[in-house]
Amino acid sequence: MSHLSANCIFCKIIRGEIPSLKLAESAKSYAFLDIGPTAKGHALVIPKYCGEKLHDIPDEYLADLLPMAKKIALASQLDVKGLDSTPGYNILQNNGRIAHQVVPHVHVHLIPKRDEETGLQVGWPQPADAADKDQLASLHKDLVERISKL
Ligand code: AMP
Repeated sequence: MSHLSANCIFCKIIRGEIPSLKLAESAKSYAFLDIGPTAKGHALVIPKYCGEKLHDIPDEYLADLLPMAKKIALASQLDVKGLDSTPGYNILQNNGRIAHQVVPHVHVHLIPKRDEETGLQVGWPQPADAADKDQLASLHKDLVERISKL
């Protein structure tokens, strides 16, 4: 049974209705080069299950996703200096428009980081009150309780 959608661009790529530079495929995942790379080897790994956010995807599909991303990460490092001196890479997975997601089908970005200029630029604000110890303790209690109910 297919868990793909008719009009989703990434589902169309999986079905071969839209061309892609395929890197690897398994029963549950598909990997291909990003069409707008921020670094050489920027790739996407997607589940063969259409869902917008990580929590929409069944665990068995998610369990297949990271091992494939790992393979692509290893392959994209081979041309640099050999596996012992991998310069680095980022795994990025955006959920929702506010979090910079453009394509509403879960995807993991594998972005090689070879130098300061190319690849992912990371930065986030750290509001002083968010690190308040009492606030953190209360948040921790709340989250632990919610997680235990899932
Ligand atoms: P995001 O902002 O996390 O939703 O990223 C979506 C990514 O999909 C972008 O990096 C796009 O360059 C990439 N993308 C969109 N359409 C295609 C396509 N047809 N083939 C390959 N990559 C694509």
